[in-house]
Amino acid sequence: MSTAAMIIDGKAVAEALLVGVRARVDACKGAGVTPCLAVVLVGEDPASQVYVRSKERRAAECGIEARDHRLPATTSTAELLALVDALNRDPAVDGILVQLPLPAGINADAVLLAIDPRKDVDGFHPDNLGRLVLGRPRFVPCTPQGCMRLLAAAGAELRGKRALVVGRSTIVGKPMAHLLLQADATVVIAHSRTRDLEREVSEADVVVAAVGRPEMIRGAWIRPGAVVIDVGINRLPSGKLVGDVEFAAAAARASAITPVPGGVGPMTIACLLGNCVDAATWRAGLAPGPG
Ligand code: NDP
Repeated sequence: MSTAAMIIDGKAVAEALLVGVRARVDACKGAGVTPCLAVVLVGEDPASQVYVRSKERRAAECGIEARDHRLPATTSTAELLALVDALNRDPAVDGILVQLPLPAGINADAVLLAIDPRKDVDGFHPDNLGRLVLGRPRFVPCTPQGCMRLLAAAGAELRGKRALVVGRSTIVGKPMAHLLLQADATVVIAHSRTRDLEREVSEADVVVAAVGRPEMIRGAWIRPGAVVIDVGINRLPSGKLVGDVEFAAAAARASAITPVPGGVGPMTIACLLGNCVDAATWRAGLAPGPG
């Protein structure tokens, strides 16, 4: 099948974003502030270990100090809350990232609520999500922020367009829908109870897929000329990584589409580091913070 769509190069867009991050890190250092990200990992989850390592490596490449806090899976909620409290109080720490998922015995909601919203670079604290809904964001969650940057890089017109977000998680689908709404799109959110997903997809000018089911959105459903952002990361038994969208068939109909891997994935870390350096520029007095 021939590919008609522009393939949106998430690696290139992320690298361009990181060039700006590095420049702002240098400006902070010039003002006597070294941007610092505290990364907290509880337990031994192998995927989380990979994510944390790559976040810390990219932070270091940008000149951001990454402070590593590894805790055993037996850590109690109270012990984790004590660490978060210490990081909240540490004036040298700009951003606090608690890697999810937390082990089953830990009250994840209590931990996320305890992070100082001014250091919540993942943007998951209710204060930051509330600000996003009000249209006055402080930290925008990294994955949906990355999707918006990819839409901008693709030159996608959003105003008045019909945008479909498939998935309604707190970390991707819901904030994504609000960002599209703020960009004046007409937004539909689909989820597991949606009656006719094919019809919703076929009517959308912009599709953002964040489900976690390999290629569930069939290429033939895509409206000709639509822009497709595929957040899903699914590993097939063969070891191959695929998104939530049937890529080749969708690319034959879409005007632009993100690949998996190499689309949304690289943007998430770049946006995290962007959020962290935002916090550092506020500490350095180089930019007025949003409060
Ligand atoms: P969640 O599991 O939290 O949410 C999945 C959503 O998909 C839910 O809202 C669920 O609906 C919906 N859903 C499930 N089945 C269907 C269906 N048949 N039709 C329509 N909707 C359905 O996942 P996340 O939001 O955390 O992640 C989604 C995907 O994105 C995953 O593949 C994940 O790996 C990937 N991801 C990628 C990132 C990146 O950096 N590229 C970052 C974060 C996630 P309901 O609410 O009704 O259950």
